[in-house]
Amino acid sequence: MFKLFTNNRGNSSIHFDNYNFRYFRTNKSSGDIVWRCVQKTCNVTIITNNEKTVLIRSNIKDHQHDEDNDEQKKELQKIRTAIKRKAIENVYEKPIKIIRKELSSTY
Ligand SMILES: [Zn+2]
Repeated sequence: MFKLFTNNRGNSSIHFDNYNFRYFRTNKSSGDIVWRCVQKTCNVTIITNNEKTVLIRSNIKDHQHDEDNDEQKKELQKIRTAIKRKAIENVYEKPIKIIRKELSSTY
């Protein structure tokens, strides 16, 4: 199953098998839509019909990176924000020390 959604920039995207794909191009002759993995270094594409209702083809097995896990991203964002805040609060503490502290307290 795949899920249509709109990304932060307002572009139509697809979530399929734990990976996110962004609109890549429309096949002029068939009208099929090609979606490309959001990871810039990744070449995996999936194709849906023009109505975005049927998945026609995917080469999903070839991803060379971890799944796009939203929870994981949110967690990372939380850590980054905490690190930034701590870095401002503790101006005399070396940043690397703050990062280590934050990571060990989160995990
Ligand atoms: Zn990928």
